[in-house]
Amino acid sequence: MSGAMQDWTMRVTAVLDHAAREAGQREIVTRWADGSETRTNWIGIRRDALKMAQALIALGVKEGDRVASLAMNHSRHLVSWYGVAGMGGVLHTINPRLFDDQLEYIANHAEDRVLIYDAAFQSIVDRMKPLWPSIEHYICFDNGEFEAWIGQQDGDFEWVEGSERDPCMLCYTSGTTGNPKGVLYEHRSTVLHAIAGLQPSAFNFSPSSVMLPVVPMFHAASWGLPYSGAMAGIKFVFSAVNDPAILDELMKREGVTDSAGVPTVWLAHFQYCDAQGIDLPALKAATIGGSAAPKFMIERLMKNGTRVQHAWGMTETSPIGTVGGPTWDWEHLSFDEKVAKTAMQGRPVFGVELRIVDLDDMSTALPRNGTTSGALQIRGPWVIKRYFKAEQDATTADGWFDTGDVAIIHPDGTLQLTDRTKDVIKSGGEWISSVELENAAVGHPSVAEAACIGMYHPKWDERPVLFVVKKEGAALSASDVIDHLKPLIAKWWLPDAIEFVDDIPHTATGKISKKDLRERFSDYRLAE
Ligand code: ADP
Repeated sequence: MSGAMQDWTMRVTAVLDHAAREAGQREIVTRWADGSETRTNWIGIRRDALKMAQALIALGVKEGDRVASLAMNHSRHLVSWYGVAGMGGVLHTINPRLFDDQLEYIANHAEDRVLIYDAAFQSIVDRMKPLWPSIEHYICFDNGEFEAWIGQQDGDFEWVEGSERDPCMLCYTSGTTGNPKGVLYEHRSTVLHAIAGLQPSAFNFSPSSVMLPVVPMFHAASWGLPYSGAMAGIKFVFSAVNDPAILDELMKREGVTDSAGVPTVWLAHFQYCDAQGIDLPALKAATIGGSAAPKFMIERLMKNGTRVQHAWGMTETSPIGTVGGPTWDWEHLSFDEKVAKTAMQGRPVFGVELRIVDLDDMSTALPRNGTTSGALQIRGPWVIKRYFKAEQDATTADGWFDTGDVAIIHPDGTLQLTDRTKDVIKSGGEWISSVELENAAVGHPSVAEAACIGMYHPKWDERPVLFVVKKEGAALSASDVIDHLKPLIAKWWLPDAIEFVDDIPHTATGKISKKDLRERFSDYRLAE
């Protein structure tokens, strides 16, 4: 016997239809790179997306074809998310900060046919064009070009229908090892993920929410915000430039209540407001993810009345895995306890399951006791099954995807990331968390940044070495750092050496690149 409810195909175009129908007048504001501003609304986004779908078909783009974007956050980029999906295409959002060899690799691997780009990235386009043979059409988002292109169409169009398992978006991981790998999101996975983002324990949107996403639209689908926000019918404020002065002015003038970004974004914002002697914007909620949010950041935002939603996820998980909204016992926790809890990576939203397994024997699941750490695995309808064009599944036989992260799970479900499997340091058969060492080190007022890697040691296999960037003008010695660390970590975790460096290498998504750091110090030898 089957159930007796209606068929309803989960396509992302239904999300935009809903926004235009139910929250049509809600504004979408863009501050462009040239300083100008435009205002449209969900009805306008839908009208333009319909025209764009027609314009792509007129170019000869077929269902399943990849259309690439090389762009920051703005309303035209938002139009293209829905316009491409609306004609059955796949939007491939390219990260403009990738290195040339990665840019070359991913556009060719994706076999992109069209590229739509910001004028700010004209030099990338000029440089890469000869290396991108599959791209037949280049369209600039700026200088009136995009508007003129879609303006040739009348918008009298019905979204292309198809299976909810059809792909709608392609994102490549930045590839800290080997070539970048493509993650092909489906209409269904995207819609389910966006609904999950609406949970009060996740983005907690209401119709009065005004969101300025600082997380770029090319970074793991901007964490699904352009879909969740459309479902909730919120107002969006976009800035095509990531400058704290511009973001601050926009947040205050446009009544922004919510924002989302990686920790460095908040750091830059603090520095800007401190230098100007002005208040931080009065946000209701800030989602922080992509890297661990340091305690002082959480503390400062919370003291400013902002709810901090510390989230963990990855491109392979669409990306929401866990989010750290308030827990049931929130009212009973002290301020310090709230900060400590928020510094962990939150709890799974409905739809994903997490488990930790033994690092040496991945078939053994470990307890969620708040102390045991293991390799973190995840499964759920918006978690990757297979990389784009890969021959084999990326999951275990029983459907778990191995995240490459090392974590502890607490009895209340809170996830606490302790390291990456590649970075955890094995000393005398015991594990040392490089991330915990780094977090402890950056708590020193003279430390700007710290990165810890395991170096070969003849007796212990590996021992931690901590690379430290001092704050400008700070006087800091290796023994100052060790004295600071002593009360914070186990004695046998203390680094064997502290090395002061001018800078620490970063990946295209702003994370510390330990691969590059290891390469830079490949001749480094620890004294025995
Ligand atoms: P990339 O930035 O390399 O494209 P992702 O954005 O997919 O890749 O990065 C995912 C990884 O980022 C996770 O596996 C985890 O190691 C790290 N990460 C994400 N969120 C957090 C967080 N809140 N705390 C610590 N690490 C995080």
